[in-house]
Amino acid sequence: MSGMVFYKTDEEIEYIRESCLLVCKTLAHVASIIRPGISGAEIDKAAEELILDHGAVPSFKGYNGFPSTLCVSVNEHVVHGIPSRDQIFRDGDLVSVDCGAYLNGFHGDSAYTFALGDVKEEVMELCRVTNTSLYKAIDAAIAGNRLGDIGFAVQQYVEREHKYGVVRELVGHGIGRDLHEAPEVPNYGKRGRGAQLKEGLVIAIEPMVNLGRKEVRTEADGWTVYAKDRKPSAHYEHTVAIRKDHTEILSDHTSIEEAIGKNANVQPVELKIESV
Ligand code: MG
Ligand code: MG
Repeated sequence: MSGMVFYKTDEEIEYIRESCLLVCKTLAHVASIIRPGISGAEIDKAAEELILDHGAVPSFKGYNGFPSTLCVSVNEHVVHGIPSRDQIFRDGDLVSVDCGAYLNGFHGDSAYTFALGDVKEEVMELCRVTNTSLYKAIDAAIAGNRLGDIGFAVQQYVEREHKYGVVRELVGHGIGRDLHEAPEVPNYGKRGRGAQLKEGLVIAIEPMVNLGRKEVRTEADGWTVYAKDRKPSAHYEHTVAIRKDHTEILSDHTSIEEAIGKNANVQPVELKIESV
């Protein structure tokens, strides 16, 4: 990632939106087929086919040598899990799926965590709080505010109010012609600190939250990041555009949540009421 921040024109934002909507269409398809007994490799194949069918290219496959279209991270796996045939989902699993697509010269990026079958209530609550923290972060991501305001919003809600661990080592990011552009968007921070958010900035905001402690490690595969205490972790991500007087969510989880509603194997993750 270079240090240069590329502010986007309206036209470029529309291209990024198109990529994001394809990502969310892909995640919605994943939401419709995911269930206990299916493997990470199967959902990855379905996702890749859908992206290619739309004339796009998976953003992650080949990125720094990453081998697949999706990152599929189960239970204590935080992010960057590699889907495989041996990765067979079980009832009670928490499955975080991250997807990127490259279309018309621009990337889109979004992620959703699926609760399969009989997931423990404490883990469902982790999902609700993590998902809600994403929207709290987006509320703070307005022109004139600073990067620290975004991180503060997540950290205040997740750590101080709900006593979970916010992962420090992985952060959100600018996005556009490159998947990961400047600036970095941490999920922790201080109010009023960091670079100012300006019109035309497009960023992926992606809280990664651990049920237990915040510390993470990387598995022997060199990719999969896991919670050091091996407790579950959740991850939700939107790509957003900072406009002059509002912030627009370019990705859209509505279709994902509709698909979950029709899939009896997946539990819906409601937002916490206090955020609305
Ligand atoms: Mg992502
Ligand atoms: Mg991202």
